[in-house]
Amino acid sequence: MTQVVYDVIVLGGGAGGVPAAIRAAQLGGRVAVIEHDNLGGLCMNQGCVPFGHMMVASKILGSLSLGKEMGLNFSPVSKDYGSLIKRQNELIAFMQQGVAGMLKKNNVELIEGRGKVAGRGQIEVNGEALQCKNIILASGAGWLKPNFPGADLEGVINSDDLLNMPKLPEKILLCGRSPWLIEIAQFLHSFDSEVILTTEEKSIFPDENKTIRTRLSKALKDQGIKILTSTEITGLTKKNDGLHAALARKDKEVRVVVDRVIALRRGSPLTGLGLDTVGLNEQGEFIQVDERMATSVEGIYATGDIAGPEQRHYSHLASTGGIIAAENAMGMDTLFDHRTIARVVFTQPQVACVGLTNKDAKRAGYDVITGSAPLSMNPFGMLTSQNNGMVEIVAEKKYGEILGIHIIGEGACEMAGQAVLAIQMEATLEELTRATFPHPTLSESLVEAARECLGRPIFLP
Ligand SMILES: Cc1cc2nc3c(=O)[nH]c(=O)nc-3n(C[C@H](O)[C@H](O)[C@H](O)COP(=O)(O)OP(=O)(O)OC[C@H]3O[C@@H](n4cnc5c(N)ncnc54)[C@H](O)[C@@H]3O)c2cc1C
Repeated sequence: MTQVVYDVIVLGGGAGGVPAAIRAAQLGGRVAVIEHDNLGGLCMNQGCVPFGHMMVASKILGSLSLGKEMGLNFSPVSKDYGSLIKRQNELIAFMQQGVAGMLKKNNVELIEGRGKVAGRGQIEVNGEALQCKNIILASGAGWLKPNFPGADLEGVINSDDLLNMPKLPEKILLCGRSPWLIEIAQFLHSFDSEVILTTEEKSIFPDENKTIRTRLSKALKDQGIKILTSTEITGLTKKNDGLHAALARKDKEVRVVVDRVIALRRGSPLTGLGLDTVGLNEQGEFIQVDERMATSVEGIYATGDIAGPEQRHYSHLASTGGIIAAENAMGMDTLFDHRTIARVVFTQPQVACVGLTNKDAKRAGYDVITGSAPLSMNPFGMLTSQNNGMVEIVAEKKYGEILGIHIIGEGACEMAGQAVLAIQMEATLEELTRATFPHPTLSESLVEAARECLGRPIFLP
């Protein structure tokens, strides 16, 4: 009997693996995807979708105060967490079916089981060795133990554990560098939990422009969320009344008692995937890939969380990387454009940053100009009380090429799409000022920020 030789085998049916498999099949490949758990991966089952759904609920609650300003009253407001989770789980089940259908429609074979690399062009799954010309590793990341004393204690949980709790904890300490912690903090707060968000960094979203960092912090603090920056957990003990945390903060010690500590720290467990069989390094928390999403071993590509550090764990990055890996595996020559990856959080206000910050642009040697337009001066921003929103553009002076667009406020994550296009198409400030955006929309502020960069705003004081 002749053995089937697949063109591509994808290890992992999540945000990166599914588009990779479909694209390889579209290019005429015989393709299999191996998944040992739910299709859709972290994003669909425990990440973007459930927490995105929770942020929608949080946004509705946040909009009630705007309704009140308009004379619309919804009191008493009631919150049924059980109903929220039921709707969420139904949506996820529906989406999982959709993914299975898409794989089937594209003739991608779905193999259920835990797979591992068994050599070049070989994957082992369910005791069988499958042959293939190319492998795409898309098995994501896993939870790493948080690095503070007491991290092993019962009550120290991650976002997966939170999703499995029938009732939300009353008092929670959140710690870590993940942007998703900020979303979780806001959701819990909007569902009446008392939250303390801590970070060892000087601010939340530490790598972004100062405007974004300070406006986001202020908005969250104004909502009643306690944020402790430059703060480390130095000890955690469990007592009858809860978890006692000792926090070191700017040479002071603060003590708090909480029901739960939510700590997010992710990295890729590279052992157990058979990487040693092909000479790939199993040390570290991710696999190095080049712009073609190729690893150092011919015929082996990687995408998503397995191929980048925690601050680059984004579903859209996994999915674009998967498509690029598939195209290259199928003989094309496609490169990943790293300039256009949006860093987002779906908090209220939303944050979306695309391209270079002022600091990074200067560090890269550009002669930088910047311009900004507050959403409080935008007509739709006024209608929706966007008091802390802002669009900020970073460009290079000589040709006016747009290098970065940074947005905070309602709709920022949707506007990020326009920012991605502008940077991908190497648009200049002049070109952006010629774009006629519909009125009244928040995206008009993109144009105004470009005009401000050029020193000729129309609608700013
Ligand atoms: C709380 C939270 C919220 C988030 N929200 C967002 C968001 O709003 N937007 C955003 O862009 N990103 C978000 N992310 C990040 C996003 O979920 C990930 O970046 C994305 O899922 C990575 O995709 P991936 O394909 O690399 O991995 P995954 O989606 O995790 O998929 C990997 C798949 O591989 C399978 N697998 C692993 N090992 C094997 C094996 N040996 N054999 C077979 N199958 C295997 C797993 O079961 C899994 O299904 C969030 C993350 C968290 C933690």
